[in-house]
Amino acid sequence: MSGEPTAGGALPLRVGLEIHARLATRSKLFCPCAVDDAAAPNTRICPICFGLPGALPAPPNRAAIRLAVRLALALGAGVRRESAWARKAYFYPDLPRGYQITQHESPLAQGGAIRIEDDRGERIAVPVERIHVEEDAARTVHPADTPAESLVDFNRAGVPLVEIVTAPVEADAEQARRIVERLRTILAATGVSEAAMERGALRCDVNVSLSGRAARVEVKNLNSLRAVRRAIACEAQRLARPDAPAGRETRGWDERAGRTYALRTKEGLAEYRYFPEPDLPPLVIDEALLAEAGRGLPELPDERIRRWRRGHGLDVDTARTLAAEPAAARYFERMVEAGAPAAPAASWLLNDGRRAAGPDGIPPVPARDAAALVERLAAPGAPRAALRAAFDAAVRGEGSLRELLGRLATQDGTEAAAGIDAACRAELAAHPAQVASWRAGRRGVVEFFVGCVMRRLAGRADPRAVRRRLLALLGEDARR
Ligand SMILES: [Zn+2]
Repeated sequence: MSGEPTAGGALPLRVGLEIHARLATRSKLFCPCAVDDAAAPNTRICPICFGLPGALPAPPNRAAIRLAVRLALALGAGVRRESAWARKAYFYPDLPRGYQITQHESPLAQGGAIRIEDDRGERIAVPVERIHVEEDAARTVHPADTPAESLVDFNRAGVPLVEIVTAPVEADAEQARRIVERLRTILAATGVSEAAMERGALRCDVNVSLSGRAARVEVKNLNSLRAVRRAIACEAQRLARPDAPAGRETRGWDERAGRTYALRTKEGLAEYRYFPEPDLPPLVIDEALLAEAGRGLPELPDERIRRWRRGHGLDVDTARTLAAEPAAARYFERMVEAGAPAAPAASWLLNDGRRAAGPDGIPPVPARDAAALVERLAAPGAPRAALRAAFDAAVRGEGSLRELLGRLATQDGTEAAAGIDAACRAELAAHPAQVASWRAGRRGVVEFFVGCVMRRLAGRADPRAVRRRLLALLGEDARR
């Protein structure tokens, strides 16, 4: 151990990601069975996805292929015009045929990158090694009351997945979490996948190693962003210890205990056998499909973040948070189009707006009205409490926000005028000498009074309105 670094921070961590996302299709990949999470177990199966002898896969679901190509285009990957299907053979109850149909040596797409920003807002590009399509396995369930028993639900068998594999990059646990988060945002924004980790529509395996060391640990089936960060942090510490694993290991993640554990051999089986799939011709991507896949591809989150930072002056955290929520992002754009100042609009949307948001993730008022609200909130001396109350009332359904704001404007105008009037009278009364010099014809003294009134109102008034009121009062006074 001569001079061998043992502390966690001594060697940079390298992280590679393998992410499985369920493609947003209505039916399975090689048969017409419906994709339906809510269905009773084993009610969405047929001889093909149930793997009955003699049943052959149907031509692949075109919608699934289109979505996978769409993801490849969104990540800037090169799409192969012709790729191949393969069989990945292993023996486990979740695999009715004894093999999974996937892609191996000739994947759908290669290259491209997932881009994130570091803490200083600098961009980091994480290279994508491959993107391929495959079918999901069945779901095994271990009932709590009879733990020795395994039940299998084949509804999930044959559901189309896209797998994204990144090249290993130097990254810490938090950066790795952000890479997965960014990919999730892209999957959702492009409509490729619902990407809901809590529903298993996005699952992540991570490979963790220390730079220059052979030991490599794979942690499988992480199903939350938090689990990704914690599992990597946990392995980083373990790899830096003197008793660190020397070779390759496959582990699972225990969320409750906050640590990884060794998988039983069959789950951790590292070597799969691959064969070419003889029952399916090569997967051909024609011009029509390519055009269809790229149609209406929305602006990518990182482009959007750049535009918002440059054009609207949003800070990186705000831009990143907004970009991660497609519905809120669209709502924000509509607010800005309607004339709301960008930074206050974003901040309002992520605070008051988010608190009032319905299941669609946006506040239940038209973006145009929200823009008017934010414009008024951003004005100096705005009656913030009253404006907030108007919004709350609109959310409760007590009228449209536009109407409620209109009512407030009249009230507010009267109140503000009353406040200015009282302040002007008080300042005039407090400075008889200056009033006398006004009478003597020194009209410039009105600016002195404007200053006094603005100070008295702590800046919460329009100086032009103050000047008008002062001139009116001084005129009255002069006529007296
Ligand atoms: Zn089926």
